[in-house]
Amino acid sequence: MISVFGSANMDLVAYVAQAPKPGETITGRAFRSIPGGKGANQAIAAARAGGRVAFLGAVGDDAFGPGLRAALAGAGVDTSGVRTVPGPSGVAHIVVQDGGDNSIIVVPGANGALTGPSAEDAETIGRSRALLLQLELPMEAVVDAACLAGAVTGAATGAEVILTPAPAVPLPAELLAAVGVIVPNEHEAAVLTGRDDPCDALEALLELVPEAVVTLGARGALYGSRDGVRLHEPAVPVRAVDTTAAGDTFAGALAVARTEGLGPERALRFASAAAALSVRREGASTSMPHRPDIDRLVRD
Ligand code: ADP
Repeated sequence: MISVFGSANMDLVAYVAQAPKPGETITGRAFRSIPGGKGANQAIAAARAGGRVAFLGAVGDDAFGPGLRAALAGAGVDTSGVRTVPGPSGVAHIVVQDGGDNSIIVVPGANGALTGPSAEDAETIGRSRALLLQLELPMEAVVDAACLAGAVTGAATGAEVILTPAPAVPLPAELLAAVGVIVPNEHEAAVLTGRDDPCDALEALLELVPEAVVTLGARGALYGSRDGVRLHEPAVPVRAVDTTAAGDTFAGALAVARTEGLGPERALRFASAAAALSVRREGASTSMPHRPDIDRLVRD
């Protein structure tokens, strides 16, 4: 099983010709509300990619809470670890201008109320082979969850911690000590290491954690391990329509591949195929591919 301890946000997306200036009111072209948040996205991606997935997180007692739960459950994610807390759900208020430029305000809401894993979460993480983490929850909650998995990693059944360090902020040593694989994009890798060149950043990351993947958008992904393995997996050429959540799809699929015992090369190929399929369609969770489509692309 794969546990995801992370954020769930309702993305409220307004499509406009040009974003309004302060004090200005404009009429938008279209509006969509789409379940998102890095945690929920990775959970849905992993479930669609064939994983048995439990999402551990929080939604508010507002109108968005049930919608967020339903999106996870609809993808086959176990939502018994989702709590409802008083107040609003997490929301991302997104304005997309013609041409694709966007501006985003994330209000953490219920995600900010997660101070750490509950006893039930600890039990679920203890039964998992992988724990997916991101940084859209309070840092102390992420650290506690990672340490919980790290504490049992010595046992044969321990959960491997796979961290997407987004949004990029300095990482506490306690967190790094528990991480098995870190999966930043190029920008996050540069912020974390101070190295703009992704190959240099990969080497710097390997001084912090045993394995690292730096995703490079349409240029693919780099993989390195302290055992000395270095790989570059090119992206699958596709016509990109919307790259939102490509990284989350990649991380979710990578977790599935690793829990199925695939080695680095095959796991990277599987994750790249899933991410490529996701960029061919609009939306975040709505664009994530199902297992048969990923397998077909990997085979071709
Ligand atoms: P993020 O979404 O976190 O910024 P990236 O943009 O690096 O992450 O994308 C993650 C992965 O998604 C890449 O490593 C690649 O495998 C895949 N991907 C992203 N953009 C494209 C694209 N235009 N064509 C094919 N694959 C892509």
